[in-house]
Amino acid sequence: TRPGAPARHVTARVAPLGSRLVLALVEDRTRERRVEEVRRDFVANVSHELKTPVGAIRLLAEAMVDAADDPEAVKRFAARMGTESDRLSKLVQQIIELSRLQADDPLDAPVAVHLDEVIRSAVDASAIDAGAKRISVAIGGTEDVQVFGNEKQVTAAVSNLVSNAVSYSDPDSTVLVTTRVDDGSVDISVVDQGIGIPADELDRIFERFYRVDPARHRSTGGTGLGLSIVKHVAATHGGEVRVWSAEGQGSTFTLTLPQHFGSERKEQEDSP
Ligand code: ADP
Repeated sequence: TRPGAPARHVTARVAPLGSRLVLALVEDRTRERRVEEVRRDFVANVSHELKTPVGAIRLLAEAMVDAADDPEAVKRFAARMGTESDRLSKLVQQIIELSRLQADDPLDAPVAVHLDEVIRSAVDASAIDAGAKRISVAIGGTEDVQVFGNEKQVTAAVSNLVSNAVSYSDPDSTVLVTTRVDDGSVDISVVDQGIGIPADELDRIFERFYRVDPARHRSTGGTGLGLSIVKHVAATHGGEVRVWSAEGQGSTFTLTLPQHFGSERKEQEDSP
């Protein structure tokens, strides 16, 4: 990018209208360009990320043809093809999910989102993966808490945190999902006893497509999009997401969202 070039152009055209307007227009243009840059980067990253599994599937198909006389090799290649297609379909699904979330503003029509239901459905969605590793997922904390926002978005965020906790945990460990009310906001924490995250990676894991040492996690087939979905949901709800982690010991992700006071409580507050 060449900062300054369009600004000069705009300034020259509207200067007679007053400097405040000039400034507003320059700022508008700068913002527009930044949005456009982010969009272009995203499209470039998406095409790059899609090419990897597609390329692998193509190579595996060729290898299968070459190995037609060796049934064991064909089986091996077919299994790897299955893994790569799963990865591809998860990637496509998360890209669609992220762009859908970005398209709708959760505060257009915010509602009371019941966290008990959201957490239950997030835990259910991870049940097969957790069961396969004998990981027990426990739910604790304050019951019947509601947050103010968009149910689909909150569910997407919590599901991603729970699914990561299960993916990056060793077999026979425990994952805990808790809620805690604190002065008008609600902390939803997902605590695992998993592999943890190196300290120098902590500020990068929320970037789109970023994965800590992908080779280490190959078998989990992640996309690097889960936490950017969580971050997006936190931001659009006026909340935040924080992480504590120690390598080899585990991680805790806490998503903080605005509390919604139930109608009973509201009536009590409103009555004199
Ligand atoms: P992915 O699809 O790879 O899980 P995410 O955006 O959800 O993508 O996470 C980004 C990276 O952060 C992951 O690849 C992983 O390295 C790391 N990570 C996320 N959650 C955890 C966790 N609970 N424990 C350890 N590492 C994690």
